Amino acid sequence: MDEQQKVAEFMEEFNFENAPEYQLLDLVSEVGELASDATKSTDWGAEPDEIDVACDELGDAFFSLLVVAESFDIDAAEALDKSLEKYRNRIDDPDSPYTGNGYSEQ
Ligand SMILES: [Mg+2]
Repeated sequence: MDEQQKVAEFMEEFNFENAPEYQLLDLVSEVGELASDATKSTDWGAEPDEIDVACDELGDAFFSLLVVAESFDIDAAEALDKSLEKYRNRIDDPDSPYTGNGYSEQ
């Protein structure tokens, strides 16, 4: 994935080395910022049609995810392919709890 290579080069250029557990915490923090955008944009659920998240915050979360992938020496593109296959199999499985609207009950 070109994006992962870009992140790897950035990490090398800026000597971006943190323990994996802190990289994971940073990822959770960035995803939390997306949740914060969602809660604030909807006035804590009072206006659900107004939901929005900032593009740069999505980028922060994506960056952090790719940092984690690099840290664990995981090819993010390969991981995504495996995930898509897993979800496809769930959708195709008649015994799956998949509800048919894009969401799983598990
Ligand atoms: Mg952020």
